[in-house]
Amino acid sequence: VKGEADRHEFKAETRMLLDIVAKSLYSENEVFVRELISNASDAIEKFRYISSTKPDDVIDLDRKLEIHIETNKQNRTLIIQDTGIGMTKEEMIDALGTIARSGSKNFLQQIQKGKEQGAAANIIGQFGVGFYSAFMCATHVEVYSRASNNTDSVGYKWSSDGTGSFEIQECDDVAVGTKIVVHLKPECREYAEENRIHDVIKKYSNFVGSPIFLNGNQVNLVHPLWLMEPKDVIDEQHSEFFRYIANSFDVPRYKLHFKTDVPLSLRTVLYFPEGKPGLFEMSRDADTGIALYTRKILIQSKTDLMLPKWLRFVKGVVDSEDIPLNLSRELLQNSNLIRRLRNVLTSRVLKFLYDKSVKDPENYEKFYKDYGLFLKEGIVTTQDQPEKEDIAKLLRFETNKIKEGTRIGIDDYIKQLKEGQKDIYYLAAPSRELALNSPYFESLQKQDYPVLFCYEPYDELVLMQLISYKGHSLVSVEKEVRRATTVEENDKIFDETSKEALSRRETDELVRFLKKELGHKVANVKYTNKLDHHPCIVTVEDMAAARHFIKTQSHQLS
Ligand code: ADP
Ligand code: MG
Repeated sequence: VKGEADRHEFKAETRMLLDIVAKSLYSENEVFVRELISNASDAIEKFRYISSTKPDDVIDLDRKLEIHIETNKQNRTLIIQDTGIGMTKEEMIDALGTIARSGSKNFLQQIQKGKEQGAAANIIGQFGVGFYSAFMCATHVEVYSRASNNTDSVGYKWSSDGTGSFEIQECDDVAVGTKIVVHLKPECREYAEENRIHDVIKKYSNFVGSPIFLNGNQVNLVHPLWLMEPKDVIDEQHSEFFRYIANSFDVPRYKLHFKTDVPLSLRTVLYFPEGKPGLFEMSRDADTGIALYTRKILIQSKTDLMLPKWLRFVKGVVDSEDIPLNLSRELLQNSNLIRRLRNVLTSRVLKFLYDKSVKDPENYEKFYKDYGLFLKEGIVTTQDQPEKEDIAKLLRFETNKIKEGTRIGIDDYIKQLKEGQKDIYYLAAPSRELALNSPYFESLQKQDYPVLFCYEPYDELVLMQLISYKGHSLVSVEKEVRRATTVEENDKIFDETSKEALSRRETDELVRFLKKELGHKVANVKYTNKLDHHPCIVTVEDMAAARHFIKTQSHQLS
């Protein structure tokens, strides 16, 4: 170590995160090992990328790209060293002194939203708070790093006990890459044992793309799973790989592993998680789950280039030899090739889900319960009508024609259309009971039409955005009720012989009265033959979904 040490305070939000992490010694604290290995692996991937795109910008081009882990029981230390891209002094200050990662920020936001500490501890593992998770188990941490670019190849030592501040100092004899020395708390001494670390690597890091050596012996597989023949991969390998890429503890619900060579080269493995989506995953700010490679070189982790945002719950890897390595992000985004890859993948995923829905409806229903909301988001956010309809195929609804508690797809609904019926009718109501008793439903029921029931407030919006399905317009029952009656029908409304019914003259008078009393509050007052049990209904022009907003408004008023 050379010269004076610089002392830096952690930024306020970093301090807060460190404080939460350090205090939550929870049962899965082993994830800190995973996080450090994943950083080491990222650093090597970054180096691989730069050395294949800009070989002149890096030093020591021919070194082996490896991760070395050492356990030492006497010293109670765990050392993780990589030969990856390394960090300059500024990068160390920036990357290790502030919350860089979106995951950490979101994690903090969640906690600030009032989660109690217990719940917070449990979500550390899922969020992956990265480097800082080391402080769950460390009394202090030293990071030795030397950047692999030409201009600044001096080594530095960063150290901190994870409270208020860190120190940084120039240092001799630092190898290119990064070495992290974790000084373990007494209660975490298990992580200084070779067997324990071996298990953790097997559990989470078996598929890291560079060799991992533990006390000199290689532990992981290295051969990328997505390049293997789909039929050669056993379930257990899929589960391991899924745990690794999804930071997850469970097994995948569905897996889609395929390769194509024409018209495009694609090696792909995609997973649909078994667990329900977390609250954060529901938000559109959540990261996507796909890593994009070309010939085993990572181009972009969490890429949004390969699948639409609404499929962000799908985790996996896409590798295409057709993608040139040296394209900038902007060029990639606008490239025709990427658009084609994305289309192929999206339709593959939709077709895959459709097959599941047909072949194994029971499990599909469970999937739909957990992830149906994403499909609906897909319809609202997709511009492309055929794609909208491919998603709509996957939706499920109750109808008046089937048993309570069962749901069918729109395809099955179409099979039940009445003779002469062209439109698909839907009715939004909070429950089946309210739907069946709704005045809007009454007129369609009289005519014995099948009607889709939508129980979620946004369903109406979704079906409105869908506009049509296989040539059938989607029509709100409300619109159907508002449809003008013909002159002949009008004549039949009045039964002038009845003593109870109003005569045409009385009805006209009532309409005039209502129009005068209601003034601008209404667009029109009309009579209709479409109701039997309800004296009158209020309908909204054009946008039926507005009724939900009106309802919220009046709730607020009352
Ligand atoms: P993330 O990995 O999601 O970016 P982390 O908290 O795990 O978040 O790491 C923060 C940053 O620290 C990384 O983005 C990287 O810039 C830097 N870093 C951490 N470990 C290493 C390493 N072994 N080599 C190079 N840079 C690293
Ligand atoms: Mg990380």
